[in-house]
Amino acid sequence: MLSKALKAAHFPRTSRSSLYPIALRSNARLTRSFYASPIPRAANEITRPAIDTPLSLWNFTEEEEMVRETVRRYAEDVIGPKVREMDEAEKMDPAVVQGLFDNGLMGIETPADLGGSEASFTSAIIAVEELARVDPSVAVLCDVHNTLVNSVLRMYGNDHIKERWLPDLATSKVGSFCLSEPAAGSDAFALQTTAKLDKSGDFYVVNGSKCWISNSEQADTFVLFANVKPEDGYRGITCFILSKDMGVQIVKKEAKLGIKASSTCVLAFDDVKIPKENVVGEVGKGYKIAIEILNEGRIGIAAQMVGLAQGAFEKGIRYAYDRKQFGKPVGDFQGMAFQFAEVATEIEAARLLTYNAARLKEEGRPFLVQAAQAKWYASVIAQKAAGQAIEWCGGNGFVRDTGVEKYWRDSKIGAIYEGTSNIQLETISRWLKKQYT
Ligand SMILES: Cc1cc2nc3c(=O)[nH]c(=O)nc-3n(C[C@H](O)[C@H](O)[C@H](O)COP(=O)(O)OP(=O)(O)OC[C@H]3O[C@@H](n4cnc5c(N)ncnc54)[C@H](O)[C@@H]3O)c2cc1C
Repeated sequence: MLSKALKAAHFPRTSRSSLYPIALRSNARLTRSFYASPIPRAANEITRPAIDTPLSLWNFTEEEEMVRETVRRYAEDVIGPKVREMDEAEKMDPAVVQGLFDNGLMGIETPADLGGSEASFTSAIIAVEELARVDPSVAVLCDVHNTLVNSVLRMYGNDHIKERWLPDLATSKVGSFCLSEPAAGSDAFALQTTAKLDKSGDFYVVNGSKCWISNSEQADTFVLFANVKPEDGYRGITCFILSKDMGVQIVKKEAKLGIKASSTCVLAFDDVKIPKENVVGEVGKGYKIAIEILNEGRIGIAAQMVGLAQGAFEKGIRYAYDRKQFGKPVGDFQGMAFQFAEVATEIEAARLLTYNAARLKEEGRPFLVQAAQAKWYASVIAQKAAGQAIEWCGGNGFVRDTGVEKYWRDSKIGAIYEGTSNIQLETISRWLKKQYT
């Protein structure tokens, strides 16, 4: 559940029923959805049945509204005062991570009987958006943990794996998602980390290295992709779950341009023994898991970029209406006001692409192209909004005190991780070719 204490503080009149997740359990409570889908999907992938009446994308369940309010207040009140310090120190305050656990934000979709909040995918998207509005570094920690790590285990793990790992991930242990390697970035299936079954047949022995792994400084739990049969190419890629004490080594922490408080490390695996039962899904089907999970993970990155754009925009426009030149607020000059109007509209478009992709996913409908569009566009707009906000604040936008330049530094990553912008455009253009040829 979301933290009852926080809810009590922020929502004193909330009825008992609304304290509990409703989105996944009761059609009667749904306040928005799309047309019934003509495309059937596996029942266990559909978390939000489609309903007949089309509604706007600004309709949320009671719980989703509550997630937004709760996360916004937590981000503004608790994270906000620490953002500058964490960025300068290039380190996440452990109290912030603990706060994410305490507020039920580290197991957003995890079933309640496994210690999670059992909320909708859109709740996770809203949480990431609201965190990024204040600090995109905290947002990516929460995003990777929820939309990649938890989701892999929830969607592909057997009961034993879910029961063994999800409760800790929801309450106390941070997760990392280890796919990329020095020679395997966009071409992720070129990965060279191997997992060989030992003679006893009980363990896989893993050797290799992973790079740019988010959350890895804080993480206890690692979702790892390694090849059990390199001679079969990508068809040997297998997904494993392991804990740090099995032998994960942090070789180097990267110094970065942006999202500095988020840890990004190079990891080494030297003869790491992983029990056979830690294989997630089927042996040799890890490539499928990686593709599918990154398709939806991209919606989380889109949300991060939307939140970032919104945060930068708000700082910029407030400053412009406060700052006086030529006897009036600089925001009152039409040359400024029209820029506000343009950027606000672009942020809203990016947000709607993001919500639409999330709802399509919940309804079990195809969302690959929409997720790619959302991620690509949101990352473009995040860079634009953050860049404009710096200019709206003039010299004060360029110095660190106002916190605007940080949004711009942070915005660059949106075009790189979980599929670069070119990879998103490749997905969209391939689909276009199919439609028109
Ligand atoms: C801060 C940070 C955090 C990260 N977190 C994680 C994580 O938690 N887990 C994880 O597994 N990985 C993570 N990554 C890795 C990230 O996903 C990769 O960096 C990304 O996929 C791009 O791979 P690359 O850096 O090797 O770039 P490359 O693939 O080498 O790309 C270089 C350039 O070539 C272009 N390009 C490549 N292929 C094509 C093509 N077919 N068509 C057109 N253009 C192309 C790209 O768009 C890009 O502009 C992270 C990276 C960073 C920087």
